[in-house]
Amino acid sequence: MEGILFLIKNGKYNLAIRRSLENIYSTYSGKKEGAEWNEFVVYLKRVWFSNGIHHHYGSEKFIPGFKQDYFADLVKNSDQNGFPVKEGETVDQLMKELTPVIFDPTVLNKKVNLDAGVDLVKTSAVNFYDGVTEDEADAYYKSMKQPNPDQPLSLGLNSKLVKEDGKLFEKIWKVGGMYSPAIEQIVLWLSKAEAVAENDTQKQWIHKLIEYYQTGDLKTWDDYNVIWAGDHKSHIDAVNGFIENYTDPLGRKATWEAVVDFKDIEATHRAEVISANAQWFEDHSPVDPRFRKKEVKGVSAKVITVAHLGGDCYPSTPIGINLPNADWIRKDVGSKSVTMENITYAYDQAALGNGMLEEFAYSKEEQELAKKYGALASNVHTDLHECLGHGSGQLLPNTSSDALKNYQSTLEEARADLFALYYVLDPKMVELGVIPSLDAAKAEYNAYIRNGLITQLCRLEPGKNIEEAHMRNRQLIAKWCFEKGKAENVIEFVKNGSKTCVVIHDYDKLRTLFGKLLAEMQRIKSEGDFNAGKAMVEDYGVKVDQTLHAEVLERFRKLNVAPYGGFMNPEFVPELQDGKIIDVKITYPDDYAGQMMKYSKEFSFLPTWN
Ligand code: ZN
Repeated sequence: MEGILFLIKNGKYNLAIRRSLENIYSTYSGKKEGAEWNEFVVYLKRVWFSNGIHHHYGSEKFIPGFKQDYFADLVKNSDQNGFPVKEGETVDQLMKELTPVIFDPTVLNKKVNLDAGVDLVKTSAVNFYDGVTEDEADAYYKSMKQPNPDQPLSLGLNSKLVKEDGKLFEKIWKVGGMYSPAIEQIVLWLSKAEAVAENDTQKQWIHKLIEYYQTGDLKTWDDYNVIWAGDHKSHIDAVNGFIENYTDPLGRKATWEAVVDFKDIEATHRAEVISANAQWFEDHSPVDPRFRKKEVKGVSAKVITVAHLGGDCYPSTPIGINLPNADWIRKDVGSKSVTMENITYAYDQAALGNGMLEEFAYSKEEQELAKKYGALASNVHTDLHECLGHGSGQLLPNTSSDALKNYQSTLEEARADLFALYYVLDPKMVELGVIPSLDAAKAEYNAYIRNGLITQLCRLEPGKNIEEAHMRNRQLIAKWCFEKGKAENVIEFVKNGSKTCVVIHDYDKLRTLFGKLLAEMQRIKSEGDFNAGKAMVEDYGVKVDQTLHAEVLERFRKLNVAPYGGFMNPEFVPELQDGKIIDVKITYPDDYAGQMMKYSKEFSFLPTWN
């Protein structure tokens, strides 16, 4: 399945574009070399990597580095029968439709639009709605009744909302519904997994998940999540479903993702120590006692080795996961929190020696601290963020869980990050043996502030403001603390020659600021204070200092490092004896284009137009 489902939801032209590019890539009869061809390959790889024509992180459309004439030539000299034309349509007609979508910067320029004051549905390219306005979508879901208000269903999670002949209705993603051919494949493979489940609980949740894909019923989805969240025994685990709603501007509809993993027993011990003390952290948190959980339930943390990535998680994967998302399940049953350590390990290895640290860290001491503790500190941050941060706090009784609308993702990530930042410098961390000394926490503070105020700008195109939720959250936190700590010079911008750097002068005061902001973020969530949340994001998380941005881009360009990393999947080949699997051989392919072409050939189940 890989990215296909995700790709279509990111925009309705994505699959047609991807299939056209792949057809050119494999059948073009001209010379497959030279600057323009290379640009074509870069563009195709970006479409693969981002699951569509918009940046996977920034949400902006990216424009090819080759000319429209060259594209026309590629099309003309490729297999004419290989293009994904609609019935009765010619290749020329198809290209007339696709060319502006690819080349014109004004057409479908944003995947997810979160700007204030416009119709978010109409101005976003995502394929979750058709013919529907933002107000209509809001009204539609407001009018739907929750069968049990104490256990609210995630209405609209697994459907496309369309308007036909003046009537609104949902096309449900399920077997026999929308995306059926792909979902049937998911069910097929889940059934195989069910047959070899390692214990009864695992068998039960796999079974429920299959039932959910067959019915599209959201109550079944919750039932599955309840069993899955309670499975702490299984050595092998999986995340599978329509889960995260970041790419819906209204924060309702989910993209499909999948991860298969197994437990890293040794590293899990560290996370277990943290989650065993969850109640202590909750009771000592700097938030208003009314917003704290009286009883923290079943925060189960583990560290995993990822074996396979799919959908939204491939090739650009998260480094931690905390699920399920439904607030009531987290409160009543608990949640499962994982740190993906083989992924963070790979990132850390790649980052050492790419020159970023030397270029952007303020001093030699800061670099040394980062080399000594950086990897551990960022893993502990992830543990705290996932095991405790997301699960902490509670809503006031009458607060709706979607009150913060399009600002929800940013505010929620900020809340979890702040929880981690506040506690990583707590002496309790040393006492528990999670970190050897508070210097490790200082390495994390340096890295976080440096990234939030400076280095993450290298991921942004010149002149642009910040769109992506995680990036907004990081700048929000760093900038808020910078502003509020100005009078006491907690954080300072300094020049290293011509280079702008940041330096933290007082770590304890910075920790106090993290605590204050955490208290405010929790209040915003608990009370559903939309206006305060909006102001927080718009004032601190969005706008970028263009002079500094230009400087960062120039320094970054000289280092010649890619701003993002992604992961290819290993290949698993079963070894059979008398029809039984006796071993699995693992190989590590290193040709990304080869892997993507293989996936397209073997795992493409959906029609081009959905
Ligand atoms: Zn998070």
